[in-house]
Parts: sequence; structure tokens; C-alpha cells
Amino acid sequence: MADLKPEDSAQNRPWHHLTAEKVIAELRSDEQEGISEEEADRRIQRYGPNRLPEPKKRSLLLRFLSHFHNLLIYILVAAAAIAGLLGHWVDTGVIFGVVLINAVIGFVQEGKAEKALDAIRNMLAPRASVVRDGTRQNLSAEALVPGDVVLLEPGDKVPADLRLIKSKNLQIQEAILTGESLPVEKSPTSVDERAAIGDRRSVAFSGTLVSAGQGVGVVVATGPATEIGRISGMLAEVERVTTPLLRKMDRFSRWLSVAIVVSVVAIFGVGVWLQGQDMNTMFMTVVGLAVAAIPEGLPAILTVTLALGVQRMAARHAILRRLPAVETLGSVTVICSDKTGTLTRNEMTVRTVATAEHTFKTSGVGYDLHGGFTLDDGEIEAAKYPHLIELMRAAALCNDSALRPHQGQWIVSGDPMEGALLTAAFKAGLDYRREGKRVPRTDAIPFDSDHRFMATLNHDHDGNGFIWVKGAPERLLEMCSWQRSGDGRSAPIEWEYWQERIDAIAAEGQRVLAVAMRPTHADHVELMFDEVDHDLILLGLLGLMDPPREEAIAAISECRSAGIRVKMITGDHASTALAIARQLRLENCGEALTGQDLDRLPEQDWVEVSERVDVFARTTPEHKLKLVEALQKSGHVLAMTGDGVNDAPALKRADVGVAMGRNGTEAAKEAAEMVLADDNFASIAQAVREGRTVYDNLKKAILFLLPVNGGESMTIVVALFAGLVMPITPLQILWVNMVSSVALAMALAFEPPEPNVMRRPPRPPAEPILSALLLWRIAFVSFLFVVGVFGIFLLAQTDGSTLEEARTYAVNTLVTLEIFYLFNARHLGTTALHPKRMFGNRAALIAVVVVIVLQLTFTYAPFMETFFDTRPVDFIHGAEIVGIGVMLFLILEAEKGLRLWVQRRRVRQGR
Ligand code: ATP
Repeated sequence: MADLKPEDSAQNRPWHHLTAEKVIAELRSDEQEGISEEEADRRIQRYGPNRLPEPKKRSLLLRFLSHFHNLLIYILVAAAAIAGLLGHWVDTGVIFGVVLINAVIGFVQEGKAEKALDAIRNMLAPRASVVRDGTRQNLSAEALVPGDVVLLEPGDKVPADLRLIKSKNLQIQEAILTGESLPVEKSPTSVDERAAIGDRRSVAFSGTLVSAGQGVGVVVATGPATEIGRISGMLAEVERVTTPLLRKMDRFSRWLSVAIVVSVVAIFGVGVWLQGQDMNTMFMTVVGLAVAAIPEGLPAILTVTLALGVQRMAARHAILRRLPAVETLGSVTVICSDKTGTLTRNEMTVRTVATAEHTFKTSGVGYDLHGGFTLDDGEIEAAKYPHLIELMRAAALCNDSALRPHQGQWIVSGDPMEGALLTAAFKAGLDYRREGKRVPRTDAIPFDSDHRFMATLNHDHDGNGFIWVKGAPERLLEMCSWQRSGDGRSAPIEWEYWQERIDAIAAEGQRVLAVAMRPTHADHVELMFDEVDHDLILLGLLGLMDPPREEAIAAISECRSAGIRVKMITGDHASTALAIARQLRLENCGEALTGQDLDRLPEQDWVEVSERVDVFARTTPEHKLKLVEALQKSGHVLAMTGDGVNDAPALKRADVGVAMGRNGTEAAKEAAEMVLADDNFASIAQAVREGRTVYDNLKKAILFLLPVNGGESMTIVVALFAGLVMPITPLQILWVNMVSSVALAMALAFEPPEPNVMRRPPRPPAEPILSALLLWRIAFVSFLFVVGVFGIFLLAQTDGSTLEEARTYAVNTLVTLEIFYLFNARHLGTTALHPKRMFGNRAALIAVVVVIVLQLTFTYAPFMETFFDTRPVDFIHGAEIVGIGVMLFLILEAEKGLRLWVQRRRVRQGR
């Protein structure tokens, strides 16, 4: 038989009916060692990276053409065609030119927005635990190849199709493939060759989620060859850059367009048939009117503002998975946060070790192995205290972490708390690697935040068996009947003594962990739950310090001034949680409720308690879910953090679910709206700040663009019905709308946060974007624009300027008004008259310079004269134009000042 190369056989054949050994042999892998790095390199060349083919993007040409697929553009093209028929060839050319420029700008902007989102998607790429060359590594899931040995834990997303080799209570949720939402049990036992996908219990399929248990499997198919890859055509949907607000604005501008077209037709009718105006001129006038009134640039500018905001958030470690969350973030009133790692640094150090007879302290910093134990302030030699050694050995071996040197420091792979136990064991003279070889592990029950302990079964080479358990002290006390005395014997447990020790250690803000054991026999190989939950011997307690993050303290006080209440929901002990809450300066750190308290709480009290209390301890994920619901009942909009697989329901239910990027499971990330790349609470506060800023900037773009359109269209309507000459021609209006306005409004996407952005209360979620205030502003500014444009036009005509000159002044006035108005609209809640605010946004300054240069070209370049009928502006008129701009700016600032003054007075009187 020809040599069967793995590449010939892998990928496209079923594996579920073969035995695990056969699969491993055929894939030339090894259960313990995995494959080698070189082999992996070779295979990745052969099979390609383990990712699904990118969803088909529209071709560049199609994307470009889509910018012409728009009601307004159809109107313009029709207008250009009719203008051509009527002999206005220049107009036709200019209209086509402007349509083209607009499409190019839209195309470039859309490209930028898509790129920003692509980059963010890449930041969320899943990772996988793989064994290669005998060592466990955490790799990007893309690097997997057939033959790789992969470890599965609860909350993981299966990274490729795996034939299972080992499993322990492994349950996988396969809804994505089979539609079945209940998890199915998986095991390495082969199944019938004809089994349907849902019955292939020996295979874990790529993209499905591990909901419980553990497993080890060998990769049999990657990328497009996986089951999900075969049907991935269905998943190819790309999320569009949109949010409820953007959709609303999009609908609004479409309706506005239709309304404008209808009124334009009516005006045309009135002009031609009732007033007997010339059809030819009238036609060009109404084209101008339509162009003037429709906010062409608005949708594109809103999209870009949103995409840039999302990109800024990602730079600040807050990655949005669902874009509508940008808006929700601005309305958040409560943030419920985990403690460990989010509010604290998750750099743990064992500080206290309590046995039945002594309370030891440890010295040393972080994970550094230097340091020792003290008793009553005197240094001691740990080896002289056998019960201390026994406790530290158990803590080091009932442990899944490892320490390794990195740039002159010791760092932890795995749980930082467990790493701290290894360091403490070293200080007691125990090297966990040597001890692990002396008493190797046979089986384990992993830690889970529901049962709050971890247990291992180990055997030494003399036939002695040990069950070691470590976990939350209250939980372990329930499981123990005995305690280890200083003489090495077991005595009945003294509840009060231990309780007093637990409270004392927790009151210092240390996290308390208890360690217990039970001897067992040599042929005990599988550890069951019901074997560890009774009659254990308590060895002692460990107190671990985990200092709060400095930046979290600052972020909490920032949240408070922003009207956001921060609550801590932790699995830790109540006293520890309260001590940390005090250091973090939470609002109510006088009381903590535990999960048990919550279980006893009558249903009707949940709403009140969830509002009042800020520290919840010893909670389970179910409590989190109930707290979310209670807070939402009282009208709160809340962000909730989570990392475990069981946190998913609470994350989904919260208005903004926040998953941890580093220590969070894939299941939590999938359920969340936002992922924190650095697991840091301060990043949530940053995200809220950015969310509020994005919303402000969207509002500013609307506030800026609508009055410009309003002013232009009112100018035309007034001229038309007053029987005056048009102060601006349709082509000139096209120029202003599609070139100057778009360039200026684009700057608003880059607007930095307002100084008071985190000092004002959250935005009520139901608040309409076009508030009464905004509508008033739009009307007021439109009116001032009309006055300015007509003012200069009429003035110029009285001082003997030609019609062309007067029109050139009018257009320049319009653009100047826009420039000044930009500075005004950039600040909603404060005066713009401040050097930092005037010049604080480089994008605005660049936009202004660009628009001035374009405007000078428009006014003085001879070729522009041909297209737009412009004339050079002399110094006096130039000064007048700038003067009008300054006047508008001052009037609007005065109006804003007055409004803010009235508002403040009302607030003061209200109090
Ligand atoms: P937070 O929800 O604030 O992140 P947490 O990390 O303290 O809190 P859990 O991880 O649910 O919450 O831990 C709850 C308790 O379980 C801890 O206080 C500790 O006593 C115990 N514990 C945590 N990790 C382990 C572990 N690896 N092995 C044994 N016990 C553990």
C-alpha cells in the first residue's frame, strides 16, 4: 500500500467512526507531544491558515458605482440631461463633475470606515491551547493544522474540527451547526460511520462552544474544510456600519429628499403657470433649490464619525463587537464590575498563612521567589514547621499554573492567584516542578465559580494517594470535619477559630483561600464530586493581597461626576470585597450583600436593594443576571462585565455586556457588546467617554449641516417669491454643498471630547436627536444665513457691482459663514471663545485651510469663472464678507451664552 500522507487523508474525510488511536496515528501526531513546530510549519504551507474564507466583498467597481445609486444623484443626472437638452452645456458638465467628486469622496470615506472595522474584527481573533513539541502553548487559532493536539475548557470556542482523544464531562453547544440549543455530551468513543452531524459525539466541531467539562482532541480539519467552513456561505454576512441613530437619520434624509422633490415640483408649477416665469430659468432654479435643500453629505459624514469613534475606542482597549453599543454607552447609568483583575491588578501575593496553631506572614514582592516566612515578627525556617510545609505543598500541587522567568522577572502562565501560591511554596523551600514529579497528578476536578473549589488526586511512588482541595473558605469548611494539628495529627475541626481567622484576614482586604486534604489508596484513579465534599482535613488558610488599580480609583471618581454609579459584583468574600471597595472609594462601601443574602431576599425588595447596595460578594452568575434585571426594572441602563461561560446570560441581558479580552472565555466574548483588550475597568470609563463623544459629534455634524441647507434653500425661496434675482446660482450652490460643506463637516468626526463630557449626567435613552433646542438652532442659523447672503448681495448691487460680482460675494459670504459657524457648532455646551477650544482640533484647522484655498481658487482662477461665473473679490468686499462671518459668530455665541446662563439659573432655582 502506498504511504498514506496526512495531507492526502486529512481535511475531507470523516473521522468519527475511527478509534482515537488510529486517528492520531494516521495524522502522525502524538497524544502527549503533539506535532513539532517544523511539522506544523510544513502543514500550514500545505493546508493554509485555519480561517474561513473572507466573506465575498463587493468589487471596487461595484462599490464605486453604488455611490451613484441614490435618489438625489438620479435627480441630478436627470437635471444635467435636461440642462444639456436646453443647451446649458456648461451646467451639464459641472453637475456631472460634482456628482463624480461626491461619489469619489463617499467611496474613499466608506473605504476608510470599512478598514477601521476590519482592524477591529482582527483584534478579536480567537486563540487556542495547543500542545506542540510536548509543551502547552496559547496560539492564534489561525495557526492550527491537522494533527495539532488541542485542549478544550469551558467557555472555549472549538477552534477547528477535532477528533476527541480524552474528555471529562465534556458538553458542547452546537446550535450554530445543528440548531440544537441544548449542549450535547461528547466523548472519544467512536460512533457509527453513517451518524448524522448531530450524532457524531466523538468530534468537536469548529465554531461550537464548550459549555462544561474538559477535553483533548486532535485537529482533523481546518478552515474551509471544517463542517462550518462547508456551510459558511450562510455566515458570510458582514455587519454594516450602522446604529439605530444612523438608521433614523438615513430614513429622515430620505423622507426629506422626497418632501423636497415634491415641493420643488410644486414651486416649479407655481412659478411657470401662476407667475408666468420663463420655464428655462425656472427649471435651473428648482434644480438649485433641490440641491440646496437636500443634505447630501450627511449620511456619509455620520458613518465616518461613527467608524472613527469606534476606532478611537479600540485604541483605548475597548473593542466594540456591536456598533449600536456606541450610542448605548452614552446613556449608561450603572456599571457593574467584577473585582479581580478589572478593579484590582490581579497581581497576587500570599501575605498570610494560617494553620491550626500559627498565623505566619510572608515577605517578598510579587512573583519574585525571594522572601520567607515570619512568625510574630521573627523570621522562621519553614522546614521546621511540617504542617506549614504540608499546606504549601498541597497549594502548589492542587494548582494548574506555572512560573517562568521573563526579562529578569518571574511571570505566571495561568491563574495569577495560583501563581502566587507557587511563589509562596518556593519561599517555603518547595519547588513545585520537583514536587510534581515526586507526587504526580492522577486526576482533577477543575475550579468553577459555581462550586468554588478545585480538587486533585495525586499519588507518590510509595503507593500513597492524596486528595487535595483548595477553594473558598466557607465552602471548604462545609467539606471538612477535621483539621491538621501542629504535631501532624488530625483533630476535630474548630469552627469558631477558623471563622475568626477568615474574618481577620479578609478584613485586611486579602482574598482568603482554604486548603484541605484526605489520604486515599493507591488504586484510586478517578476523582468524583461526591468523594471530595465531606470528611476532609483542613490544612490551613492563605491570605492573598491583590492591590486595586490606581487608574480604576480615578475612573470611579470620573464615573461619579458623570452620573454613573459603579457597583462591584465579586465571587470573593464579603469582608475582602468591602475592604477593596473602600480603597476604590465606591459610593456605598458601608455594606455588602452576599449571594446567600440575595437568595433570601424577597422578590419585591430586589429593585430597592440593587439600587442601594454597591458591593455584592460571593455571588454566582445567576445572581448577576437577577441584579441586571432588577436594575433595569428601575430604569437603569447598565454595563456589566463578565468573563466566564456562565456569565453569558447576564452579559446578553445587560444593555452593554463587557467581556474580558485577556482572561475572558470565548463564550463571554460572543455574548458581549464590547471586549476589553486589557481587562481594565478604566477602559470602560474611557469607552463611555468616547461613546458620549461620538454621539456629540454626530449631533454636531447634524447641527452644522442642516442649517447650511436650510439657509441656502430659504435664500432661493425668498428670492423666488419676492420676485428678486437669485443671489446664488444653482451651480454655485452645488459647489458649496458638495465641496465646502462636506470638507468642513468631515472635521467634526475628529472633534475631541467636550471638556465637560464626563461631568454631565447620562443622556436619557429616549431623548430625540432633533430636540426642540436643535430645531430652534437650525431655524435660527438658517435665518441668519439668509440675512447674511441677501445682505451682501443687496449691498453690492446698491454700490454698483455687477450681478456676477454680487453673486460671487454672496457665495463667498455663504462659505465664510459656514467656516465661522463650524467653530460655533463644535462646542455645544460651552463657549467657543477660548484659544484651546478654537484651535484644539487640527482636523478643523486643516479643513478650514483647505476650504479657504478652494474658495480662493473658485473666486480668482480664470477657469472657475467659465464654470461658475465668478469674479474676483476686491479688498473692501472681502473685509465686509469676513465682517459678516465674525458677526454671525458673535451673535451665535451670545445666544449660546444666554441659553447656558438661563439653564444654570433654572438648575439653581430648581434646587
Ligand atoms: P470576580 O468575580 O471579582 O472576578 P473572583 O475572581 O474572586 O471575583 P471567582 O473566580 O468566582 O471570583 O472566585 C470565587 C472564590 O473561589 C475566590 O474568592 C476563591 O476563594 C476561590 N477560587 C478562585 N479561584 C480559585 C482556584 N483556581 N482554585 C480554587 N479556588 C479558587
